[in-house]
Amino acid sequence: MAAAVANGDKGFEVPKLEIKFTKLFINGRFVDAVSGKTFETRDPRTGEVTARIAEGDKADVDLAVKAAREAFDHGPWPRMSGFQRGRILHKFADLVEQHTEELAALDTVDAGKLFAMGKAIDIPGGANLLRYYAGAADKIHGETLKMARPCHGYTLKEPVGVVGHIVPWNYPTTMFFFKVSPALAAGCTMVVKPAEQTPLSALFYAHLAKEAGVPDGVLNVVPGFGPTAGAAISSHMDIDKVSFTGSTEVGRLVMEAAAKSNLKPVSLELGGKSPVIVFDDADLDMAVSLVHMATYTNKVDLSDYPAVPSEIMCTSTICSKFSSILHINSAILQGEICVAGSRIYVQEGIYDAFVKKASEMAKKSVVGDPFNPRVHQGPQIDKDQYEKVLKYIDIGTREGATLVTGGKPCGENGYYIEPTIFTNEEMSIAQEEIFGPVMALMKFKTVEEAIQKANSTRYGLAAGIVTKNIDIANTVSRSIRAGAIWINCYLGFDPDAPFGGYKMSGFGKDMGMDALEKYLHTKAVVTPLYNTPWL
Ligand code: NAD
Repeated sequence: MAAAVANGDKGFEVPKLEIKFTKLFINGRFVDAVSGKTFETRDPRTGEVTARIAEGDKADVDLAVKAAREAFDHGPWPRMSGFQRGRILHKFADLVEQHTEELAALDTVDAGKLFAMGKAIDIPGGANLLRYYAGAADKIHGETLKMARPCHGYTLKEPVGVVGHIVPWNYPTTMFFFKVSPALAAGCTMVVKPAEQTPLSALFYAHLAKEAGVPDGVLNVVPGFGPTAGAAISSHMDIDKVSFTGSTEVGRLVMEAAAKSNLKPVSLELGGKSPVIVFDDADLDMAVSLVHMATYTNKVDLSDYPAVPSEIMCTSTICSKFSSILHINSAILQGEICVAGSRIYVQEGIYDAFVKKASEMAKKSVVGDPFNPRVHQGPQIDKDQYEKVLKYIDIGTREGATLVTGGKPCGENGYYIEPTIFTNEEMSIAQEEIFGPVMALMKFKTVEEAIQKANSTRYGLAAGIVTKNIDIANTVSRSIRAGAIWINCYLGFDPDAPFGGYKMSGFGKDMGMDALEKYLHTKAVVTPLYNTPWL
C-alpha cells in the first residue's frame, strides 16, 4: 500500500489570497525592474501561475546597492542607538505576527509548505528571530584590552556595511529572517535576493519593515534569477559582505565571484546529507517516529507521534514561543530541508523491526494539498525538483537498492511524491543530496562503524543520535564532523543555537550570537597612557 493521497479531498477551506506586492523594493519604494521584465511564480499544488514578479538583474542590484550604501554612509540606521534599533525590530515582529495567516498562505502558494505549519511555526518563528536580535541590538560592545605596553586599548564592534543576502526557496520566511534579523540588529544595510521560486513573502516583509520604521534604503529586496541578480550581488564592488544559503555548487560560484571582485567576506550555508544513528537500546517507537520526522514530515498534532515524548516534539511542533526551531520541519514535509536526516543508520539488533515500522509509518503519511489540515506532506517546490527526486528514485532502483515503500508520484496535478524508503547502502542516493522525501536505511554493528559511516560524506551539516547510553551519546557527538548534533531529538533549532556546517556544508553561522558577529567588524583602538596610577 502506498501513502494515502488526499488530493481528491475537498473538505477544507483555502483562504482567499490577494498578492499585493510584486515589484522590486528599492529605497523604500516598490518599483518596476529597469528592464521592465517580469517572471512567473507558480503554485506547486497545481503548477499554475500565481503572480508575475518584476525581474531584477544587474541594473536593479546596482540601484539597490546605491540606496543601501547611501543609507549606510549617511543614514540614521547605523548611527542610532542599538536600543532604538531594537525597538523598531520589535515593532517589525509585531507586524509580522499580525499578518501571520496571510504570510503563511503566501509561503504555501509559493513553496507548497503546509499552511498549518506556516501559521504555527515559520511565521511566528520569523518574528521570534526578530525579537531575539532586537534584544541583542543594545548589547553589542567591544572589550577593554590588557595591553603589554603603557597604553589604553579597547575594541569597537562596528557594522560591516552593505550586506548582500542570497537565499533559497525551501524556507522563504525562515531564510529571510535568519539573514535579515542579525544584520539589521548590527546596524548594516542590505540587499536581499529571494529565490526566484519564492519571492512573495520577502516582498511583504519589506513592506512591513518600512511600516515598522526601518528607514528607506536599509532593507532592499530584489527578486530575480541566480546568474543575473544573484551574480550581480556576489561580484558587486560596493557590497561589503555576502551571506549565502543554497547549494554547495552555487556557494562555490558565490565565493569565486567575491574573491574576484572586492574580496568581500562570504558566509555559506550549504547542502547536507545528514545521518541519524539509532542504537540498539533506543525505544523503537520513539526512534521510528523521530527518524520519520527527520526525513520527511512534521505534524502539528502532537498526538500523531504518541511515542515521542513531548519535550522532544517541542523541537518540531508548536514551540514557536521559543524559536524558529520548528520552521525547519515544515520543509521536511517534502524532504526539502538542508538538514533532512536522509541517511539513517540502525544498529543490527533492531534493524529489521525498525525497517518494518518505518515503512508502516511512511505508508500512513497523507500526501496532498498543503492547505488541507489533514495532510502531512505537500508537493515538491516545482517541476524541476519533482523530476530530480524521481530521477534519484530511479537511480536507487537501478543501482540495486531495495525499495521498501513509496517511489512513485501521486495525485492528479502538482508535484507530489510518495514518502520513499530504500535499504542497502551501496548507492549514490545514500551520498548525494536529494532534497526530497527519500530515506536511505542502513545497518551497522559497532559504535566505531557508525561514526565512520556517519562521517563518510563530503557534507557536515547536522546529525542525530538516538540512544539511552550517555557515554555513547557523548562519544558519537564529539566524533561526528557536523555543525549541529541532536541527541534523542531532531531539528533542535533555537534562536540562541548557532547553526552552520562543517566540510562542504559551508562556514559561518546563522542564529545565535555567532550570526550577529558575522555582521560586525572588530576595530582595535590604542592610545598611549601617561602618568596613570596603573596600566
Ligand atoms: P541554489 O543554490 O540553486 O539557489 C540558492 C540561491 O542562489 C537562489 O536565490 C538562487 O537564485 C541563487 N543563485 C543561483 N545561481 C547563482 C549564481 N550564479 N550566483 C549567485 N546566486 C545564485 O539552491 P536552492 O535550490 O534554491 O536551494 C536548495 C539548496 O539550498 C540545497 O542544497 C539545500 O541544502 C540548501 N540549503 C541549505 C541550508 C543551510 O542552512 N545550510 C538551508 C536551506 C537550504
